[in-house]
Amino acid sequence: MTYSIVKVATLIGARRYGSTETTVGWLLTDSRSLRFPEQTLFFALRTQRNDGHKYIPELYRRGVRSFVVKEVPDLASYPEANFLQVPSPLAALQRLAERHRDEFDIPIVGITGSNGKTMVKEWLYQLLSAVAVGTASGERSSLNVTRSPRSYNSQIGVPLSVWLLGEQSQVGLFEAGISQPGEMAALRDIIQPTVGVLTSLGAAHQENFRSMEEKCMEKLQLFHDTAAIVYPSDDDIVSRCVRRSGYQGERIGWSRISDNVEFKVESVQALPDSVSSQITYIYKGVRSSYVIPFIDEASIENSITCAATALYLGLTHEDLAERMPLLEPVAMRLEVKEGQRGLTLINDSYNNDINSLDIALDFVNRRGEASNKLHPSPITLILSDIYQSGESLASLYQQVSNMCKNRGVAKLIGIGDEIASQAALIDVPERHFFHDVEQFVNSTVFSQLANELVLLKGARRFGFERITELLEQKVHETILEVNLQAVVDNLNHFRSFLKTDTKMVCMIKADAYGAGAIEIAKTLQDNRVDYLAVAVADEGVALRKAGITANIMVMNPEMTSFKTLFDYDLEPEVYSFRLMDALIRAARKEGITGWPVHIKLDTGMHRLGFDPKADIDELVDRLQHQTALIPRSVFSHFVGSDSDEFDDFSATQFALFDEGSRKLQSAFSHRILRHMDNSAGIEHFPERQMDMCRLGIGLYGVEPYASEDSTLSTLHSTLKTVSTLKTTILQMRHVKAGDSVGYSRRTILDRDSVIAAIPIGYADGLNRRLGNRHGYCLVNGQKAPYVGNICMDVAMIDVTGIDCQEGDSVEIFGQELPVTVLSDILETIPYEVLTGVSNRVKRIYYQD
Ligand SMILES: *Cc1c(COP(=O)(O)O)cnc(C)c1O
Repeated sequence: MTYSIVKVATLIGARRYGSTETTVGWLLTDSRSLRFPEQTLFFALRTQRNDGHKYIPELYRRGVRSFVVKEVPDLASYPEANFLQVPSPLAALQRLAERHRDEFDIPIVGITGSNGKTMVKEWLYQLLSAVAVGTASGERSSLNVTRSPRSYNSQIGVPLSVWLLGEQSQVGLFEAGISQPGEMAALRDIIQPTVGVLTSLGAAHQENFRSMEEKCMEKLQLFHDTAAIVYPSDDDIVSRCVRRSGYQGERIGWSRISDNVEFKVESVQALPDSVSSQITYIYKGVRSSYVIPFIDEASIENSITCAATALYLGLTHEDLAERMPLLEPVAMRLEVKEGQRGLTLINDSYNNDINSLDIALDFVNRRGEASNKLHPSPITLILSDIYQSGESLASLYQQVSNMCKNRGVAKLIGIGDEIASQAALIDVPERHFFHDVEQFVNSTVFSQLANELVLLKGARRFGFERITELLEQKVHETILEVNLQAVVDNLNHFRSFLKTDTKMVCMIKADAYGAGAIEIAKTLQDNRVDYLAVAVADEGVALRKAGITANIMVMNPEMTSFKTLFDYDLEPEVYSFRLMDALIRAARKEGITGWPVHIKLDTGMHRLGFDPKADIDELVDRLQHQTALIPRSVFSHFVGSDSDEFDDFSATQFALFDEGSRKLQSAFSHRILRHMDNSAGIEHFPERQMDMCRLGIGLYGVEPYASEDSTLSTLHSTLKTVSTLKTTILQMRHVKAGDSVGYSRRTILDRDSVIAAIPIGYADGLNRRLGNRHGYCLVNGQKAPYVGNICMDVAMIDVTGIDCQEGDSVEIFGQELPVTVLSDILETIPYEVLTGVSNRVKRIYYQD
C-alpha cells in the first residue's frame, strides 16, 4: 500500500515544504538501511546520541525525496525534496502507523510479556499460516499473517512493523516491549490489538518499575480495548492485576492447577522419544491434546499460550494437533563464520520469510561494505523456497528479485522446485537452481565458491546445515563466541553518558581485548565511532587490509614502524621528544606534511607522556617550528577512575591535564581534541568527557566502575556479555576415591567421582592456576571444579552428580559465568583473562 505525500502530510498534521509529487511505500529511520529511495519517507529522529537530520544530504544524494523533519534545511539545496515539518518526527512516525492501522478491520494480536514474546509470535505465525510448515490442512485453512520482523517491539520498531500491514493481510501479530513506565499507551494506539496475549512476567527491565504489579499493570494497558486476553492464570500477580484492571473482554486464562479457567492444562507428559512432550487440555469444555517437538519448560508454556490464542482465533483442535508437532525452533541470530576458500558465511537460521530475508541482506550488505568499500566481496545468496501463504509466487519472487538488486546480490543459488519455477523473474547477474541441497553440494557451482560473502537462508526442511558443515573451516571444539549486538548495546550504553558531539575512541588493542579486532572494528565502524585505537602499527595494518576505513590511532608506535604508519594512514601517539624528532625526520624523508598525531601527557601514571608542566613550552616550540606533524588531539590517562578511593588523585590529574592541554591548544589556531576518560571515567566522571572519550573494557561487557552509589549500580547492570568461552566434554570416566587425576598426582579424589576431560588447556589461555579445584567451569548450569593440574591442551573437571554426557557444552566464562569470577580467583583483572584467550581458539561471531 502506498500513500501520496499530500495524504501523509495530512495524516501526521505536518507543514509541507516542497511541491514534488511523490508516493510513500517505505518508512526509513536508519539511513544505512535505505532500499527503495524514490518511495522512501525518511524520519529524521533525534536520539540521545544521534540526530537523523545529519543524514539528509547523503540520502538526498542517493535519491530520497521525502523527509519528516523537525528543522527544515535550506530548501535551495534540495530542489526536488518534500520536507514535512512536525514538532516530533518520532511522534509523527507513530501517528502515521496508527492511521495506517486504522485501515484494517482484521484480528490483530498484541503480544507482550517479559519473556517469550518473540517465540510466541513466531509460533503463532507458524500455526496460523500453516503453509509455512507445509501441512496438508494448510491449503484449506491458512491465513496471510503479517507480523513484526524479528523482535521489532520498541517505540520505533512497532510503527515500522505495523506499517507492513498490506492488502492481503488477514491477521496481524505484533510484539510490544516496554522498558519504562508510560511507554505502553503509545504502542497500544499504534497496534490497536483486538486480542491481547501476555506471555510471562519475568524480571527483565524490573529496575525501572517500582514493583512487579506496576510493571504488570503497565503491560495490561496494551489490552484495554481488546475483545479477549490470553494470560497465565497461575501467576498470582498476573491474575490479580487482570482482576484489578476491571478488564471487560473475554478472559482466557490458562492454568495447570485451577479448573476455573477457559484453558485448563490437564497434563504435560514427556514422550518416550525424550525429545517431545504431549499436552492435554480442556478448552471451553472440549478435551484434546497435541504434541510439540520440545521438552523444555519455556517451550511448553509458550506452546500453551499459542494454543489458547490460536483456538480463540478459530483454529480447530484438529488443526492444532496436526500443526503443533511441526513447530520449528525460533533461532534469532545471524552467525558470521569464516569458511574455506576465503568465504565468509553468514548463516541466518531465522524463519525463512520475505521480511527477514531483507533484514539479513541488509546486514550482509553492511558487512560487505565495511570490509572493503572499494572492492567489496561479491554477495552470494543461497535461498530455498520461501513459504508464504496468500501471495502469488510471481509477486513473492518479484520481491526477492527487487531485494537482490537493491542489496547488490551478485549470485543467487536457489534450492527447491518452487524458486526454480520462478527463475525467469529473478534478475541477478548470476543464477543457479537446484532441486535440493544434495544436488547443489555435488555441483561445480558448489566447489567453485570462493572469496564471496555467502548468506544462507533456508527453510528448515531443506537442511542447509549440510552446506554450512561442508564450507565451514574445521573448528577446534573450543570456541570464543562473540555477540556483536552486545558490543553495540554496550557502546550505546556509554554513549548515553555523553553529549551528542563528544567523540568516541574505541580501544581495540590486543585483538579487541581478545574478542577479535577485525569483526569488532567492522561493527564499530558501522556504528560510526570516531576513532579506533590499537597498540602497535601491525594491528592497524591488519585492520586496513581487512578494509577498515575509520580513523585509527596507534598507542605504541615503534621507531621501526614509521613508514608503515604513513603507508596505511595510521595516526601515532607521541609521548616523548625522542619519538617526536624521529617521526618528524621520517615524515620529512617521505615528503609528508601535516600528519595527525596524538600528544600524550603524563599526569600521574608515570608510564609514558610529556610532563604537562615542565615540557609544555618546549613541546609547543618544537611543534610550531615544523610542518611534518600536526597535533590532532592531546590526552592523558586516569590511574584510578574505577574507584572512589582515588577521587582526589583523579582531580589532581585532571587539573594538571587541563592546564597543560589548554596551553597547547592556545598555541594553535586549529581545534585540538582533548580527552581523558576511559570506560570507568565515562561513568564516574562524565563531566570530564571534554571532546572525546576512550572506551575499552566496558565495550566488552565488563563493568568498569564499581560505584558505592546504588542508583548507579542498577544502571550498570545493563552491560551485556560479549565473549563466551566454550568447549565440549570429550570423554567421561568413573574414578575411585583415593585415585589421583592429572600430572604429578596433585588432586587425590576423596570420593568416587565422575571426571570429564575437556579440550582446553593453558595453551588456549586457561590459566593453570585454576587447577586443583581453585576454579570451576559450568556444565549444564552447574559448577564443575577443575581437578588435577591443567594440561597444555586438555583439562579435567569433576562432574560428579551433574546430569551431563560426552559432547555436552561447557562454559569456561561468559554469559552464565562472568569473567570476573575467574579474574577474582586468579587475583588479577578481567582484562588479563580476556586477552589471554589464545589465537588458536576460533572466534565465532553472531548477532541477536
Ligand atoms: C586501554 C586504554 C584505554 C581503555 O581503558 P579501559 O579501562 O579498558 O576503558 C584508554 N586509554 C588508554 C590510553 C588505554 O591504553
